[in-house]
Amino acid sequence: MSLEIDPVCGMKVDPVKTAHKTIYKGRVYYFCSKHCRELFDKNPEYYLKHGPVGHV
Ligand SMILES: [Zn+2]
Repeated sequence: MSLEIDPVCGMKVDPVKTAHKTIYKGRVYYFCSKHCRELFDKNPEYYLKHGPVGHV
């Protein structure tokens, strides 16, 4: 079992357990919450370039 990093807040996410994921450019990203997923969907390039920013 491997954990994924939530690209928005940097938390470790278990891909098996989380219901929050999105596909961007053919890759699956996992999130700790709907909130993080929505932020990513709004501006995916920002988080991929700058890395996780934590919860705001
Ligand atoms: Zn998160």
